Amino acid sequence: MNTIRYDFRSDTVTRPSAGMRAAMAEAEVGDDVFGDDPTVNRLEQRMAAMLGKDAAIFVPSGTQSNLLALMSHCGRGDEYIAGQDAHLYSHEAGGAAVLGSIQPQPIAHQADGTMDLGDIEKAIKPDDHHYARTRVIALENTFGGRILPIDYMGQVADIARRHGLGLHLDGARAFNACVALGTDIKTFTAPFDSVSICLSKGLGAPVGSVLSGRQDLIDKARRHRKMLGGGMRQAGILAAAGLYALDNNIDRLAEDHRRARRLAEGLAAFPSLKVVMPDTNIVFVDVEERLGSRLTDFLQSRGVGMFGYARQRWVTHLDVTDDDVDGALDQVAAFFRQGAEAAFR
Ligand SMILES: *Cc1c(COP(=O)(O)O)cnc(C)c1O
Repeated sequence: MNTIRYDFRSDTVTRPSAGMRAAMAEAEVGDDVFGDDPTVNRLEQRMAAMLGKDAAIFVPSGTQSNLLALMSHCGRGDEYIAGQDAHLYSHEAGGAAVLGSIQPQPIAHQADGTMDLGDIEKAIKPDDHHYARTRVIALENTFGGRILPIDYMGQVADIARRHGLGLHLDGARAFNACVALGTDIKTFTAPFDSVSICLSKGLGAPVGSVLSGRQDLIDKARRHRKMLGGGMRQAGILAAAGLYALDNNIDRLAEDHRRARRLAEGLAAFPSLKVVMPDTNIVFVDVEERLGSRLTDFLQSRGVGMFGYARQRWVTHLDVTDDDVDGALDQVAAFFRQGAEAAFR
């Protein structure tokens, strides 16, 4: 790939700011495997308090955080229910199956991204020795940048409670949803036994996620984190970036959402592009496949980074400015000006 001037590939590409690096450099540290890193302890306590949970654990990645959650809810031969396109089922290399011996029960999404409540209920296995034991339902919110309704999360929580199941939230971008809705994170995450939040996406930290939840689950997660090789030593250097992100980078997610909308509106001006208006910071664009493929190649050759051909994904984040949005839109205009479209009529 050529040098990227306008990077809309993901909100994971953000680099730590000068203020964040200063906080990292000054972090008080200790050996976190011994429980003596004061900065890690502060981050864990802070996140648990923000979410109104008993405890939390700092981990290297969102993937590990979700895996720890599933391994803490489920034992060998148990089963979790998740959406067919849920990150923890479809984008985490099958970790729960490989490392946890946990079987997935994926469920199709409806057009709005939710799972049908009847489908969830039907997928829960009765107590019968033919079946894996269903232990937990996992939701993801935001889901592809889309906000799933708080009422829906409550309805799934009711099903989980009725069947004695755990409820996990992959809230990698939960703060995006809360900022967009004007809802407190504690209210948003209230129905869940465990919640995973990424610090390294829109919040702008270089590394890390935090898994929060019930004490017994976090205690198990701590053992599993060690088993998986995720026990880190002077991790306060990284946790300091997370604390800085919680202090400085939550409210500003509104700017990413505003820029995503500006980008979406700009893209929607081109008749060949079918733009899905964003709830938060992710814009999806559907386009005829060959045209999309040429557009993406053209944009990449002009220093605009994004992913996809027939369905393109553009993500705004704290290293994207208004000028970057305009610069990228200028390149889309340049593509259509050169008549690239004519060949596909
Ligand atoms: C990015 C992401 C993860 C995983 O995070 P990594 O730190 O990349 O492992 C999990 N769930 C969702 C919804 C994500 O967007």
